[in-house]
Amino acid sequence: MNRLYGHDATLSRFSESLEAGNLHHAWLLYGMKGIGKHILAEKLAGLLMCESQSGCGACHACKMLAAGSHPDVFRLGLIEGKRDLNIEQVRSVLSFLSLSGAESGRRVVILDDAERMNNQAANALLKGLEEPSAGSVLLMACSDLERLPATIRSRCMLQQCSPLTDTDVRAVLQQQAPPIDQQYLDLAVSLADGCPGVVSGLQDESIARALQEWQSLIADPAGADVGKIEAWIRAHVKTVPHLLIARMLAMAVYPALQQPCTASAFESRELLQKALHECICWPGDVVRHSLRAGPALLACMLQLRTALRAMKTT
Ligand SMILES: [Zn+2]
Repeated sequence: MNRLYGHDATLSRFSESLEAGNLHHAWLLYGMKGIGKHILAEKLAGLLMCESQSGCGACHACKMLAAGSHPDVFRLGLIEGKRDLNIEQVRSVLSFLSLSGAESGRRVVILDDAERMNNQAANALLKGLEEPSAGSVLLMACSDLERLPATIRSRCMLQQCSPLTDTDVRAVLQQQAPPIDQQYLDLAVSLADGCPGVVSGLQDESIARALQEWQSLIADPAGADVGKIEAWIRAHVKTVPHLLIARMLAMAVYPALQQPCTASAFESRELLQKALHECICWPGDVVRHSLRAGPALLACMLQLRTALRAMKTT
């Protein structure tokens, strides 16, 4: 199993309450996408299941857990291509938790993407949270706390998980298999911005190379060569993760927004903020409104360029 970086506070809070015998039956681990909440949940499950309650990695329980074959641990998350977690999935969680543990007397469910439960599913889970069965622990990972009903949040032990330091991000990226090519590691660390999970696409060298090209094309967004940008978009918009394209664009624009703003430049600065907002929303808008990704991205880029030029002339 991968080593865990950056969540020591959560680990110690969890093991302290485990040792004190007052462990809450439902933990809600929340924080940004890509910071390792699932790996953290696996570690917590390891503390619960391990024969010495230390997550030793060497005992029979730890080995089964690492192999994904521990009979008392159940994992569930959004199925690729599905919009949400549905009631049947939540029912399977609840019926698993209601049985008593075969190996350990405990039962653990790791529920990823908790914010993607639909209303029916959330209502079903709520009932389960009100009547926990002895020895059962639910570990939920959630990237958007606001999307979870308050009734669920209030019945869980809330644990905020923070983005990682750049040093930890680098360590996480270096232990991945296959590793990100050394020459793209700095780029990956800065793009990750504390969330190594979001840059896993750079393990594919052609994607890493394309992003590096994108970075140099948009280094000066105000003076960017539209023809070259159009060609890049045509060649890569289908393969390079949209989130990373948009994130890189936003990073190129931030410095202009951080400069002190004169009264006369106020309008163009607002224009820039609006254009930046559209650029950040572009990956989601493409999905939500079935936009054609390439033309929509080019439109964002042109808006940013216009706004930046207006700022320079005022
Ligand atoms: Zn162990």
